[in-house]
Amino acid sequence: MSVTQILLPNDVRCTTEMKSSTPRVLIIGAGISGLCMAIRLKQTQAASFTVLEKSDEVGGTWLDNSYPGSACDVPSFLYSFSFAPKTWARKYAKQSEILDYLRDCADQFGVRDQIRFGAEVANAEYDEKTATWCVTLTSGEQLEADFLIGAVGQLNRPKIPPFKGLDSFEGETFHSARWNHDYDLTGRAVAVIGTAASAIQFVPLVAQQAGRLCIFQRSPNWIMPVNRAVYSRFMQGVFRWVPGVARLNRLSLFLQHEWKIILLKKRSNWNRGLTAWIKRRMRREIPPSLHADLIPSYPAGCKRILLSNDYLDVVQQDHVDLVTERIQEIRSNSIATKEAEYPVDAIIFATGFETAEEICPLQIRGRDGVFLKDQWTPRPRTYLGMLTPGFPNFFTLYGPNTNLGHNSIILMVESQVNYFVRCLRMMADRQMASIEVRPEAVETFDEDLQKGLSKSVWGDPCDNWYKAEDGTITNNWKSSVLSYWWRTRSPDFRQFNVETASADE
Ligand code: NAP
Repeated sequence: MSVTQILLPNDVRCTTEMKSSTPRVLIIGAGISGLCMAIRLKQTQAASFTVLEKSDEVGGTWLDNSYPGSACDVPSFLYSFSFAPKTWARKYAKQSEILDYLRDCADQFGVRDQIRFGAEVANAEYDEKTATWCVTLTSGEQLEADFLIGAVGQLNRPKIPPFKGLDSFEGETFHSARWNHDYDLTGRAVAVIGTAASAIQFVPLVAQQAGRLCIFQRSPNWIMPVNRAVYSRFMQGVFRWVPGVARLNRLSLFLQHEWKIILLKKRSNWNRGLTAWIKRRMRREIPPSLHADLIPSYPAGCKRILLSNDYLDVVQQDHVDLVTERIQEIRSNSIATKEAEYPVDAIIFATGFETAEEICPLQIRGRDGVFLKDQWTPRPRTYLGMLTPGFPNFFTLYGPNTNLGHNSIILMVESQVNYFVRCLRMMADRQMASIEVRPEAVETFDEDLQKGLSKSVWGDPCDNWYKAEDGTITNNWKSSVLSYWWRTRSPDFRQFNVETASADE
């Protein structure tokens, strides 16, 4: 039976009665990757789709991270979809510009109507008999699809460490990704816990407002200056009107970033050179009394290298304390270390995200009722970061081992989306109902992946969110963007177990 609707009406349980000949895709999340998938499916007409988004707007991480100073540390011409070029005003876009861009993309490509806002997924279950996914929303509504796309990102559940006494704190607390814009920091004694990519962007602005600022640093970071150029009207005109210039600029930025993967090779001369170079720069910028506190001892790149022109100045200001002792306890109006107690009115947690769990926050059950969370314990093993054995027709975008330390994630997401579209086309050509990656394919892929990752600087002794508890790198891709694009340019169906569509469908 042919149907135009991809989903069952509200309050109807999943069933096969209305199965369509056009593949039906449910995408969980309307962040960058979910939006990219929706747009490409719309452009290619490869499937009908609905995006389920728990918030009331598109944008994902760029909707959540509205803290002051929030910006992207990847150049804007590169941190945008290849199929949706924009003339950016700044070399590095601010959060509001990126969010506007994503909103514009949703409107311009006409996918907004296919996004259901306020639709939070509670769980999803694969039905082996019908080769369909049944998705249940927290409202109880159930939806059915042939393909399920997990596009929930790696960084969207704020992590607040369970500091002793936190509950007794009487002042204001919030996480950097849940900024309380109604709370006025002017003249307050403010504590910031965490000093990585998020903190370094808002600390200079908070320091301008706060009466006193205590920055609690657990480990130092490698910090480099950044050219935050604003493109002149003339340059913007050139990008907009002179054919090929914007594309050439994107290509040039891509190459400028892509080669840097060699700097991230463990114990290589390249990495030693990079570390020595940043160290020299940092030593010039900060007084010797702060060298031990602010200059890391681990190799550059092991944690994300941070870009800032003002953070190192700010920590030297008179009303700013850089506290490097461990926090022992949070009290009703203060934070205590072993040596001292710091009175504070507000605590801002810039303590990152629940990444290990975040990669799989949803209750997704595949074949034999196995939960994805269990399948990915003690660590996720996938094929290309997208496909997991036991989970037919389920693809993850920006999933395990697809994060980068040197280039734009959007390039990885586009490769994944194109891969999925090619799978859909090949499945249609060959009359397949489902594909499921074979465990042997995952084993071979994972072996090669881990071999590559063992040569990367992320495995060096430093705490970073790229690793699982046992030290295995679970978040980052092993190599260049080009190598990932090459691996994903065409699906190899020998890696899949396949079920063909029955004649009556
Ligand atoms: P993060 O990199 O995970 O950093 C968390 C910070 O909190 C670190 O300084 C960490 O110290 C500290 N911390 C964690 N637990 C702590 C504890 N129990 N006590 C004291 N300190 C603690 O989080 P993030 O800064 O939010 O950045 C996360 C990622 O978001 C980045 O790596 C990046 O990929 C992305 N991001 C990107 C941009 C961009 O411009 N593209 C901007 C912001 C964020 P340790 O270092 O000792 O662990």
